[in-house]
Order: sequence, then C-alpha cells, then structure tokens
Amino acid sequence: MAFEGSTARLTVFLDRILANYGRLALRVAPAVCAAVVKADAYGLGIGQVAPVLARAGCQRFYVACVGEGVALRAILPEQEIIVINGFHENIQSIYNENRLIPVLNDLQSCKDWKHPACVQVETGMHRSGLAETEWIAARGLLRQPLLRVISHLACADDPQHPLNRQQLAAMHRAMDAFGVPGSLAASHGTLFGTDFHLDEVRPGAALYGATAHPDSQPVIHLSARVLEVRTVPAGATVGYGATFAAPSPRRIATVGIGYADGYPRALGNRGVMLWEGHRLPVVGRVSMDLVTLDVTAAPDVQPGMWVDVYNDLYTVNDAAQDAGTIGYEILTRLGKRVERIYKV
Ligand SMILES: *Cc1c(COP(=O)(O)O)cnc(C)c1O
Repeated sequence: MAFEGSTARLTVFLDRILANYGRLALRVAPAVCAAVVKADAYGLGIGQVAPVLARAGCQRFYVACVGEGVALRAILPEQEIIVINGFHENIQSIYNENRLIPVLNDLQSCKDWKHPACVQVETGMHRSGLAETEWIAARGLLRQPLLRVISHLACADDPQHPLNRQQLAAMHRAMDAFGVPGSLAASHGTLFGTDFHLDEVRPGAALYGATAHPDSQPVIHLSARVLEVRTVPAGATVGYGATFAAPSPRRIATVGIGYADGYPRALGNRGVMLWEGHRLPVVGRVSMDLVTLDVTAAPDVQPGMWVDVYNDLYTVNDAAQDAGTIGYEILTRLGKRVERIYKV
C-alpha cells in the first residue's frame, strides 16, 4: 500500500525468508526447526512473516511475551506458540484462551501452571531459567508432562568459546533430570554441528538476514528519497554541530530518513548509502528525520530520486558494523514511519 508522502520505504522479500528457513531446516534435519518471531518478527511484520513460515512447514513459533503470543494466535490458528519470558498466574486465562505454551523460568511457575509447557534451564548465561540445583524439585512440582527443556547459548557467535561445550553438557544433564528432549541452538548454534541441534533449534536472526550465517541471505531493501540537493563551497559545514566541513566544493543531498526511522545516529560521518553503483558517504550528523550525503561523485542524483539505505551490497550487517552494533538491533529499530512493501 503505497503512501505518496513517505520518504523511506522498506521492501521485505518474503520469498527470501522462506528460502532462509528452508536452508536452515535442511541443515538441522532431523532436528525440528522452530522460528523465533518475537519483536514483530525482528521488526519486519509478524502478520506477513509468520504465515509464510507456516506455509514453509514451520510448526513451532517462539515469541518473547504474552501479548505477542495473543497477536500471533490470531494469525496462526494451528501452530504451537511458545512464550519465552514465562507466565504469571494472574494472566493464566490468557494463556489458556489462546492456547499459548509458556516457558517456565522459576519454581513458582512450575507449581502454578497446570498444562503442557517448556522449562528453561540455566546452563551458563545466567539470565533466565532454573538453576541446576532446582531441577529435581521442579520435576516434582510439574502437574503435566513437559514438552522439552530449553536453554540459550551465551557465546554462539564464537565457535571456539569453551562455554559452548559446557552449556551443551549442562543441557544433557537437564534432559536427563527432566526426562525430555532439549532445544539449545539459535541461529549461530545451528553451525556447531548435530551435537548442538538436539531435538529442536530456534533461529531468529538467520531467518531475517540480520546476522552473518551461510544459510541466510538479506531479506530487505530500504530506500530513502532525496529531498534536496545543493552545492556548498569549500569550508562550509553540514548539519548539527558542524561536524563535517567540505574540503572542496561538494554536492550535498538531503534524504528523508533519520534516527526516528531507526537509521542509526552512530552512522553520522561513518555510513554510506548507495545509488547506481556509487557509494555515497554520510556527511555530518544524522538528524531525527534527515541524513545528508556527499553526492559529488554522482552528479545525476536529483531531488525526487531514491537512494538505497540497505541493500544486497550494503546490508544491515554492514551498516551494523559501521555503527558499532548488530544487525538485530538495526532491524528491530526500524521505525513506524517507514512505508512497508511485501514481495512474495
Ligand atoms: C531471541 C532468542 C532466540 C533467537 O536467537 P537468534 O540469535 O536471533 O537466532 C532463540 N532463543 C531465545 C531464548 C531467544 O531469546
């Protein structure tokens, strides 16, 4: 649905999300490939993304919080929906009405919940889940058989890190203690080999091109409209704080995207945008709604044209590197003002 006035436009290639899922599922088979669709499918739109994954055969969907689970149930009537951040007794009915499966993270939840669930076990990240000293007690409290135990790798982006193997060993102890299958690996853990795949893997970022992974191709293009172009003389400064001074006469294009749209402010004087093979450096600070580019090398750039913010040649992961962050953060912060177009 095109909106004439929008100056930033996101194209989401759903077919590529489908292809990423297919490659991941193939890599880990016969382990089950679940999909993590928290944070609005990493900012890309759960309403569009989840049905595509379901059509690809995905049967298990992880969300972070109960509100996301309720929204997803309205989209997917059949599939298993698991809420990572646990359950609270006072909203138990919401879980039941929407057939949501909580991840139980503490003993009280194990006591209160009377339906099928997953249990999160602490294996080395010290963020969520039951400590090893609580496992036997937890098993005694559960009223229903568990579906599986889950845990999360702290250092999955570093295959050599000793914590990975330690967490896997702890995971096996948990599977023995509870007598159920396990799920440990997210995107990067899928690359550690079949030992780490266990019963199920739970990738998010690799589905969406939000991290470097051999099965993951970029799934978005983001473009922004050129609003103005001007020539500035040598010595003129551009933008807030006058942090860029033109070393010679320069053509400066002002484009309609800013940090309110999720374009990282850290890319001021660091990032690039692309146009017809030209790399156009960001000059000056990033404003709330605007970015200034040096387009001297691309004299054909004119107001009304669109430049590429992220594409297949300069991906969210490239931008993340320049901004000192990760692709996950860039995707999940894309703003509400950005027009979205979905390609199947
Ligand atoms: C977010 C999350 C995932 C997905 O991680 P990716 O690195 O995006 O694949 C898996 N499991 C848990 C518990 C998570 O919080």
